[in-house]
Amino acid sequence: MGKKILVIGCGGVASVAIQKIAERSDVFDEMRILSRTVSKCDAVKKLIEDKGTSISISTGHVDADDEDELVGAIRAFNPDVVLNVALPYQDLTIMDACLECGADYVDTANYEPENTDDPEWRDIYEKRCKEKGFSAYFDYSWQWAYFDSFKEAGLTALLGTGFDPGVTSVFTAYAKKHYFDTIDTVDILDCNGGDHGYAFATNFNPEINLREVSAPGSYWEDGHWIETRPMEIKREYDFPEVGKKDMYLLHHEEIEALGKNFPEIKRIRFFMTFGQSYLDHMRCLGDVGMLSTEPVEFEGHKIVPIQFLKTLLPDPATLGERTVGKTNIGCIINGKKDGRDRSIYIYNVCDHQECYKEVGSQAISYTTGVPAMVGASLVADGTWKKPGVFTTDQFDPDPYMDLLTKYGLPWTVAENPAQVD
Ligand code: NDP
Repeated sequence: MGKKILVIGCGGVASVAIQKIAERSDVFDEMRILSRTVSKCDAVKKLIEDKGTSISISTGHVDADDEDELVGAIRAFNPDVVLNVALPYQDLTIMDACLECGADYVDTANYEPENTDDPEWRDIYEKRCKEKGFSAYFDYSWQWAYFDSFKEAGLTALLGTGFDPGVTSVFTAYAKKHYFDTIDTVDILDCNGGDHGYAFATNFNPEINLREVSAPGSYWEDGHWIETRPMEIKREYDFPEVGKKDMYLLHHEEIEALGKNFPEIKRIRFFMTFGQSYLDHMRCLGDVGMLSTEPVEFEGHKIVPIQFLKTLLPDPATLGERTVGKTNIGCIINGKKDGRDRSIYIYNVCDHQECYKEVGSQAISYTTGVPAMVGASLVADGTWKKPGVFTTDQFDPDPYMDLLTKYGLPWTVAENPAQVD
């Protein structure tokens, strides 16, 4: 089809997304990979070229916080679509640059600021906490505010096409289309049954991961948010192909989009599994201030504790070889069909070692990188192209579901699953 895709960022998720894009010569014929560390882009390019692809690939440098450099880089390549797999901190600068250069925009995580002490951001944040009732640093309001600009420019922005958010939102749309007349409740379950052998490591960007997990939890019920203390709500669930795991209620971004786009849903919750060692380490690090995003003075330099911690922790992109076990991520959905109660669990199981064998990554990067490619390809080939800013639950789910199966994330629908109380 001859489309051009620009990928920004070249970490764990990007490495998988890029390898999967290289399999899509039916949509793309050119890919450019730009990031802060060009050697990482070159390494992935070599990996793909060694395997063989008909897509032409180039690499280069971009600091996506530098709007002039970013606009110059996008304009020089003139892509149809930009896939942002850098960090959520860069979402708005990349959206601005896409508008300026006339490219569609796709990402996997919603905007949050790098400096949460920035007074201008904090004023807006505190107002939002009061009005909406949840205090996570990230929310969709910043990116939804671009709706009219994208619409007027005839461009599409597809937000959050990872697994969660992303696939979980598509699962919900698919359930609504094929299994339910009305949905009453959705419980999104994210289980990582993998073991990497380290006492403590995060399986995606440590800074983003630890910010998310150490924050208060919240869920959506009867049209409003209910906030909990961090890790306050704990449940055990017996996951197909993984077994029994403890899981904890977290705030998560797809709850916000699903609550808005499916007002009939009375309750939406998100649970993620954590082992005791992870939680103990996180609590100690939090207690001594290592999770703080506020810069501190150290020997004449300003350092941000959580960013320093990141330099000490294993790079998630290197966990693949040593991680064994499986993930199970999906949605338990309850509702009504033809006047009768119905309940399904729609989920994917992914094996860490199988992912490593295929693309050299663990399953968390894999389960995010594949949907990033799927979303970007559907925007590029026109299937999911409509002017404005959208989340993945706002399109026909069928083509997305087909591509998941075809490119490594097959899914299962089980009727009458065990419930989470
Ligand atoms: P990594 O830290 O492994 O990779 C981030 C990449 O972005 C690195 O290559 C980094 O460069 C690059 N980068 C950071 N800042 C800039 C910048 N200013 N300009 C250009 N490049 C930059 O993160 P992950 O791959 O684990 O995560 C990528 C994204 O995926 C994150 O937004 C994360 O939140 C999201 N995610 C979404 C999930 C979902 O299911 N929806 C699940 C997991 C992750 P350098 O190499 O120089 O540091």
